[in-house]
Amino acid sequence: MFINSFFYFCFFDKENFKMDLINKGTVANSLCGYVRIDRWEDEKTDKLIEHYKSIIELLGEDVSREGLIKTPLRIAKAMQFLMQGYNSKPEDILKSAMYKEDYKEMVIVKDIELYSMCEHHMLPFFGKVHVAYIPNKYITGLSKIARVVEAFARRMQIQERLTFQIRDCIENTLKPMGVAVVIEAQHMCMQMRGVQKQSSTTTTSAFTGAFDRVATRDEFLTLINK
Ligand SMILES: [Zn+2]
Repeated sequence: MFINSFFYFCFFDKENFKMDLINKGTVANSLCGYVRIDRWEDEKTDKLIEHYKSIIELLGEDVSREGLIKTPLRIAKAMQFLMQGYNSKPEDILKSAMYKEDYKEMVIVKDIELYSMCEHHMLPFFGKVHVAYIPNKYITGLSKIARVVEAFARRMQIQERLTFQIRDCIENTLKPMGVAVVIEAQHMCMQMRGVQKQSSTTTTSAFTGAFDRVATRDEFLTLINK
């Protein structure tokens, strides 16, 4: 599961090309029609390598051991990938694909894959995000909702704040009749350490506008549980 979090699938678009130019180190591999993009900055990578060498040594390992020689470099690149959300502006992602439309029914994007890092332990939490909104003159591209999730998730996070940030970003940008966000996630800091609850899932939700009405909220919850 953790290995998967090193893969970032997205379609090439104008914004990605812009980011490629900003950062020096960029590798894009095509895979099944999708593109995996790793980005890193050389200067930052060099500093991170030194820090991770010290950390590994402090934890009792020998960094010159064959299997560990390239580990600080790999972590340095992986961490920049996992924290790439700091380089993106989620509201701009939505604004880049806002269309005028009279559609006034619920739009649901469910089962968006989530990989994030808990800010208390820097261990992953992962799961699914379900987002709905009821348009009020404007709609956005469905892939943009997933990209907003990604932009907020690839940071040091707590699940509660992530839920609110996704909701507020859609609310402030599209100004819809209402927004609903539900996140179901498992936290490695709970599963690998601490209380060691192997299969507990944490659910958070946030609603605005029309979703404050019980009937609308129930319709959304029924549809995402199908
Ligand atoms: Zn934690």
